[in-house]
Amino acid sequence: MSRVLVIGCGGVASVAIQKCCQAGGVFTDLCIASRTKAKCDALAGLLMDRTPVRISTARVDADDVEQVKSLIDHYQPKLVMNIALPYQDLTIMEACLACGVNYMDTANYEPENTEDPGWRAIYEKRRKEAGFSAYFDYSWQWAYHERFEKAGLTALLGCGFDPGVTQAYCAYALKHEFDTIDTIDILDCNGGDHGYPFATNFNPEVNLREVSAPGSYWEDGHWVEVPPMSIHRTYDFEDVGVKDMYLLHHEEIESLVRHIPGIKRIRFFMTFGDSYLNHMKCLENVGMLSTKPVIYEGREVVPIQFLKALLPDPASLGPRTHGKTNIGCIFTGKKDGKEKRYYLYNVCDHQEAYREVGSQAISYTTGVPAMCGALMVLSGKWNAVGVHTVEEFDPDPFMDALTTYGLPWRESRDPVLVE
Ligand code: NDP
Repeated sequence: MSRVLVIGCGGVASVAIQKCCQAGGVFTDLCIASRTKAKCDALAGLLMDRTPVRISTARVDADDVEQVKSLIDHYQPKLVMNIALPYQDLTIMEACLACGVNYMDTANYEPENTEDPGWRAIYEKRRKEAGFSAYFDYSWQWAYHERFEKAGLTALLGCGFDPGVTQAYCAYALKHEFDTIDTIDILDCNGGDHGYPFATNFNPEVNLREVSAPGSYWEDGHWVEVPPMSIHRTYDFEDVGVKDMYLLHHEEIESLVRHIPGIKRIRFFMTFGDSYLNHMKCLENVGMLSTKPVIYEGREVVPIQFLKALLPDPASLGPRTHGKTNIGCIFTGKKDGKEKRYYLYNVCDHQEAYREVGSQAISYTTGVPAMCGALMVLSGKWNAVGVHTVEEFDPDPFMDALTTYGLPWRESRDPVLVE
């Protein structure tokens, strides 16, 4: 019997929860808790008659460790799935430690207020040590490793698609296809069209912060940082077609560098259309992407939060989005002394995802791996204590679960490489 507490009830959480209900043999009891309880109640109401899983709901402000602790104490889950926002990672990890419960999330920590002077001072120091300037980095959560280890608990970080499945693909390539991997290019292509001139397909604040930051990649033992969107390539994606893509900093590069021995280069590319980029540039130029509060008519307003209120809710894009995503990793390296190249990827159809769970493919490709990661922890297939990322675990049962629950992988042994 596994009781699981899910925190957050947005686009990704709603998919993960529906998928937990499909694996009702493992997930017997679910508590859906979020800041807005009405959303949890609405989802629970929808699922109640369709699943044997016993579902309850709660209100929680996960920025407050004490509130999370009392909810965990009351509900007594075996695992907390944090599918709220990266801002809550540390408070929820603290609460899990205090209550002796396993933890997982889908994105690594970043603070909501990047202007906070206390946080800023630590960030400036870490930025120099780390060699890249993204607000998100693993150091905050890796710092919990010993405490989780001592407590005999598992914390699984970043178990969505990217981060998440992309790291499982790397572990799989290393286990089955290569003796040594030299380069990894992670390609994230969204070929979907929602018909709006501008909308983000997951939380707008988190998405725009990520995309407007300087890009960086790992090469020959160090980070190379470049201005935002300054490295552009095109690629012909199976089932999508030719797309423009841009190099971004992305969190899994940081952990893969630690865990793929001898790796020479890792880059991450994401596709963007002209309309998205033009809107983003314009919003940035007028200050709408700023996290620094401004006073407007006597009230404090954070520009990017106000922008979020104006943009379409990513959870509402499902019925309008057509087309496919294609996300995966291209590897080069050696097997039995011979050079080889290999591509592992998944193609997901927005409308098929919508028909199954009422969400577009971005939420689907994140929510399914979140559930599969939870399945690995609950079933004991992934049981290392401490704080870990996906590539540290055996990829095989996880990739089997992905196939069972809607994200089968494809492979190519002769992919076109990215220049
Ligand atoms: P949404 O904005 O749709 O949902 C976030 C949810 O968290 C909402 O239910 C929100 O409540 C809740 N929440 C926010 N703050 C708090 C709080 N203080 N206490 C309790 N609940 C809170 O986001 P998404 O579903 O799009 O994204 C969820 C996570 O998935 C994010 O961390 C995102 O970065 C990550 N992600 C990871 C990907 C990957 O591949 N690894 C890809 C895409 C997303 P309310 O309704 O009140 O706002």
